[in-house]
Amino acid sequence: MNNKNSDLGFSTRAIHHGYNPQEHQGALIPPIYLTSTFTFATAEYGAGCFAGEEPGYFYTRIGNPTLALLEARMATLENGEAAVAFGSGMGAIAATLWTLLRPGDEIIVGRTLYGCTFALLHHGLAEFGVKVLHVDLTDLGELRAAISPATRMIYFESPANPNMQLVDISAVAQIARQHPQLIVAVDNTYCTPYLQRPLELGADLVLHSATKYLSGHGDITAGIVVTRQALAERIRLQGLKDLTGAVLSPQDAFLLMRGLKTLALRMERHCANAQAIARFLEDHPAVATVAYPGLASFAQHALATQQMKLPGGMIAFELKGGLASGRRFMNALGLFSRAVSLGDAESLAQHPASMTHSTYTPEERAEHAIAEGLVRLSAGLEDIADLLADIAQALDASAEPATRPALEVVTGTGKALP
Ligand SMILES: *Cc1c(COP(=O)(O)O)cnc(C)c1O
Repeated sequence: MNNKNSDLGFSTRAIHHGYNPQEHQGALIPPIYLTSTFTFATAEYGAGCFAGEEPGYFYTRIGNPTLALLEARMATLENGEAAVAFGSGMGAIAATLWTLLRPGDEIIVGRTLYGCTFALLHHGLAEFGVKVLHVDLTDLGELRAAISPATRMIYFESPANPNMQLVDISAVAQIARQHPQLIVAVDNTYCTPYLQRPLELGADLVLHSATKYLSGHGDITAGIVVTRQALAERIRLQGLKDLTGAVLSPQDAFLLMRGLKTLALRMERHCANAQAIARFLEDHPAVATVAYPGLASFAQHALATQQMKLPGGMIAFELKGGLASGRRFMNALGLFSRAVSLGDAESLAQHPASMTHSTYTPEERAEHAIAEGLVRLSAGLEDIADLLADIAQALDASAEPATRPALEVVTGTGKALP
């Protein structure tokens, strides 16, 4: 296989792109280059590598053949020119924002963001003179009004973690195109390129926590940025090399590529399981609200159908009994694990207000549409009957503890039964 195979299907590229066994002793599986540094045949060649005049590798924080293969695969799957791999999603996000923003710049971000992204913006960049504006990106008039000559970037998640709100990526990109200085960046962690490809919808840059669905097995942390070649090189040589040093280990790049081979299969199953769970929750009398893009009752169902291939594996819901019932529900789960992260084979449940989104104050959560009682589920790959049975028994257990029934004297035995 060579690199000119973008007319091949998604899974074919996820399995073969960029690798030719004949260049590696016939090895079916790409080798892992476990080396921090690379030797130079001559001092002149080494100097040429550092000057960017020679194509070779010189230090793994800047490049490594195993990382390069992963980057080529992610670039083709997102239909972008180039990718840069990182040691975590936050590494990718921090390196991108530190590279592209300067004091005095403004960044427009979606209303709701992953907790650590929110913290990076408000406790990191804001303190270095970057102005952060949250805008309800479903209101395009509000977006147009918020853009100023100082705006450098529009950054959002769709669906947003944790409340599932969507943003019309094409509509936002179309508005941004009227301002040449603007970069549209989309955190595509919830969807993966199998469900949604923001670059094809007009975005400039896609970010991932590859810790989640892309690797898919809960055994590594990783991040990815996919964008134009020149922008990717800036992010690599500033954000990765100097500003964060958030390099991915070649060993973890290998595990991530192993995960990518089954991405399409896994996403189909995650989505099918989530759809069944969302329907079950929606019909249950203890449940107040369910946010899942695949439900006809989801406010942005039409947009979901338009920009996502399938509705994803994540669900957010609230119980009528609020936070207290949500806690009882979570504690009663047997098959679902109580854990943050998402996109693993194992189904996971967590409480954003006290876990992933505890970086927000309660007032900030209210302002950013994160309900205190919200429970977030990541539908895993288990058998759906077992998942539904676990949810059903946990919903029963989530009800108010029944007030003790009054003692009843049963005539004939002379004993009061408990
Ligand atoms: C988990 C997550 C991140 C952060 O990624 P890490 O790999 O944990 O650093 C960023 N964005 C979203 C939407 C996430 O779910």
